[in-house]
Amino acid sequence: MGINRREFLRIAGIASLWGLGGQAAFEILKPGAIEAQARAPLSQGKKWSMVIDTRKFKTPEDFQRCIDACNKTHNVPKVANVRQEIKWIWTEKYENAFPDDQNQFLPESMAHKSFLVLCNHCTDPPCVRVCPTQATFKRPDGIVMMDYHRCIGCRFCMAGCPYGARSFNWRDPRKFLKEPTNPEYPTRSKGVVEKCNFCEERIAKGLYPACAEASNGAMTFGDLDNPNSEVRKLLKENYSIRRKPSLGTQPNVYFLV
Ligand code: SF4
Ligand code: SF4
Repeated sequence: MGINRREFLRIAGIASLWGLGGQAAFEILKPGAIEAQARAPLSQGKKWSMVIDTRKFKTPEDFQRCIDACNKTHNVPKVANVRQEIKWIWTEKYENAFPDDQNQFLPESMAHKSFLVLCNHCTDPPCVRVCPTQATFKRPDGIVMMDYHRCIGCRFCMAGCPYGARSFNWRDPRKFLKEPTNPEYPTRSKGVVEKCNFCEERIAKGLYPACAEASNGAMTFGDLDNPNSEVRKLLKENYSIRRKPSLGTQPNVYFLV
């Protein structure tokens, strides 16, 4: 990426404003890092949500950057067997992502496009209702969480989730981790379910979710209850859709199309 002196000084200004003075310039200038730094740190939210601008994903690399950021941050194991793979965030074709919309006249551009999907942190999550041990539960700020220690591996939540957003560790996931691992996030064990946690460990520090930070501004995270939040602004100004609205789960991930 080329950068002139004026741009460098602008970024340096942002960095010092947020106490990032000691951070090396190359760190700040990584792809996606400028957008991430240019956002105000997250404050407390009452109803966290994600807005994904699908128009900004142009190449497979655009998706992969976000997927890699999540996998690296959360020590997501890479299991080659598709029947045993662990997915926190992944891509789907239109007909799988939005099967409610059976429109045979869909433009070619949309029909063959990929969409980045993740747990929807639904307002009314069926996974939480069916879990017998409360290993999966919903926080007051809307995040659907997993307590790995309480999970008995019954997989009722996987049957309950209509989005395939949960994965079961059929094998010891630690054997499938890419080195180096992130020591700040726990690894899991065989026999438990795992899923996207909306980066609750990052938002607790005022940071954006790892996927959003890596997305070059294509994914926006924020508080739906705050009328001045970035997500509310995007939803007000753009047409958005959600996955499988007919099921009544009220997903909190919105897609701009
Ligand atoms: S997407 Fe699935 S796992 Fe996530 S909250 Fe909704 S029902 Fe639960
Ligand atoms: S919000 Fe965090 S945990 Fe969820 S998909 Fe994005 S990076 Fe992964």
